[in-house]
Amino acid sequence: MTFYGQLDSINDDFIIGDCGMIYVFVCFECLETKSVLQSY
Ligand SMILES: [Zn+2]
Repeated sequence: MTFYGQLDSINDDFIIGDCGMIYVFVCFECLETKSVLQSY
C-alpha cells in the first residue's frame, strides 16, 4: 500500500473526529484503498 494523501480538519466546516486526521493509502496494482482515522 502506498500513502496517497491525508484529510485533516482545516476549517470549521469539515472537522473529522474532533480535529483528527484521515490517512489514505492505495494499492496501485488492485486499486484497493484503505483509510485510517487518527483522532487526538
Ligand atoms: Zn493490492
